[in-house]
Amino acid sequence: MSKVFNIKNSLYAELGTKLGRERRKLLIDEMSSLTNQKVHCFNCSGTCCTFSANSMQITPIEAFEIILSLEITDDNLFEIKNNLKKNIQDYRLDHEIFLGKKINSVLRKTYTCPFFAPGSKGCTIKKDLKPYGCLGFNPKIENDNGSLCHSNTQLLETRENAHRMDEIAANNFLKNNLQLDWIKLEIPKAVLALIDKIY
Ligand code: SF4
Ligand code: SF4
Repeated sequence: MSKVFNIKNSLYAELGTKLGRERRKLLIDEMSSLTNQKVHCFNCSGTCCTFSANSMQITPIEAFEIILSLEITDDNLFEIKNNLKKNIQDYRLDHEIFLGKKINSVLRKTYTCPFFAPGSKGCTIKKDLKPYGCLGFNPKIENDNGSLCHSNTQLLETRENAHRMDEIAANNFLKNNLQLDWIKLEIPKAVLALIDKIY
């Protein structure tokens, strides 16, 4: 049995982590409701996924679910890893800029997501397995194309509260099992970190 299958089984069957779609249902339903009101991303160039606005950071369970979406095989593993490494280098995500002792944090950098395909396709990650923050970021009006788009923080918080214990357990499982020393990372760094441990 492959390592990814073992982890998937431990997370969802043994630990009882709810599946991606169930944990994201609130956000997916809201997105569908907006689409029914013609408030959608279909005509946008994808501003929020590119370096002009994207600084998304994700948890280990979100990174693991992106890996599930990628359907990694022996044939595509090398290409996926190379794309992630190139993306990290292109946006200098491997160079942290410390903002000083007072605030004790590092500069949050912007980058174009490695899973963004310019043109009509846009995000290539399955909706049920997308980072929560991506699903919670939507336009406000028809044909907005980035100007008024915003994060629905209230809905994101409601979702997080509903699944908090479930996701703390899942993240702890991945941290311990894969010996991860981070809580959140930029998408390419988080996904590559897990791929390096799993494959
Ligand atoms: S995962 Fe998808 S929606 Fe999120 S930043 Fe990447 S391309 Fe955009
Ligand atoms: S959320 Fe806004 S910026 Fe992002 S793809 Fe949709 S319309 Fe464009």
